[in-house]
Amino acid sequence: MDSSSPASTGIAANLARIRDRISAAAIEAGRRPTDITLVAVSKTYPADDIRIALCEGQRVFGENRVQEAAAKFPELRASHEDLRLHIIGPLQSNKVRDAVRLADMIETVDRRKLLDALDAASAHEGRLPDLLVQVNVGDEPQKAGVSRADADQFVDECRSRFPSALKGLMCIPPAEENPSSHFDWLAECAARHGLPVVSMGMSADFETAIVHGATHVRVGSAIFGHRA
Ligand SMILES: *Cc1c(COP(=O)(O)O)cnc(C)c1O
Repeated sequence: MDSSSPASTGIAANLARIRDRISAAAIEAGRRPTDITLVAVSKTYPADDIRIALCEGQRVFGENRVQEAAAKFPELRASHEDLRLHIIGPLQSNKVRDAVRLADMIETVDRRKLLDALDAASAHEGRLPDLLVQVNVGDEPQKAGVSRADADQFVDECRSRFPSALKGLMCIPPAEENPSSHFDWLAECAARHGLPVVSMGMSADFETAIVHGATHVRVGSAIFGHRA
C-alpha cells in the first residue's frame, strides 16, 4: 500500500494520538507510560490496515473472532515475528484449538468447560497462550464473563489448572454506566490474586481505565476508524 494514502495517514496519525493520550493518562495517574500496553483491535478491518499499524511500530493486536484472525494473521506474522495476537471475543469450545494455535493471549476465559477444552488443545498443539479470565463486572445477562460472585473461585480454579499461563483479568463494563467503579473492582480483584495483567478500557474510556489501573487497553475504532 502507498504509505501516503489517506488510510495510511489516518491510521498513523490516530495511532500517534492514542499513544500520546495513553502516556498523558499514565503520567496523570503517577504511572509509567511503558507499563500500559496498547492492544490495537483490528476486528473487521482488512490486513492492509493492520500492515499500516505494523509500519508505525504497533505490535499487539486484538481480534474478536478466531476465524477472522486465522484468515488475517498467519501471513502478517510471517513478516513480523514479534507480532502478538490477542483473542478478545467470546470463545466457542469448537474454536479453542484454532485459538490455542494462533493466539499469544486469550483474554476471554469465562467458563469451566473452556478449561477442559484449553487443556486438550494445548496438549494437542504443544503450546498454550497466556490467559485472562473475563469478568462480567456489570453482571449483565447478555454479556460473557464469570459473575463477580464467582470470580475468585474461578480464578483459583483457572490458576490451579494453568499456573503459569494465567496472567490476569479482563472486563467490558456496562455501556451506559460510569465505568470507574467497575474498573476499580477488576483491578482490586487482580491485585487480590497477585495477577499482573488488567485488560480494560476501549476507545471511549481507555484514559479512565488507565487511571483506575489498566495494564492493557483495547482500542479499535479510535485507531482504524468507524466499523461498518
Ligand atoms: C471491539 C472491541 C474493543 C474495541 O472497541 P472500540 O470501541 O472500537 O475501541 C475492545 N474490546 C473488545 C472486547 C471488543 O470487542
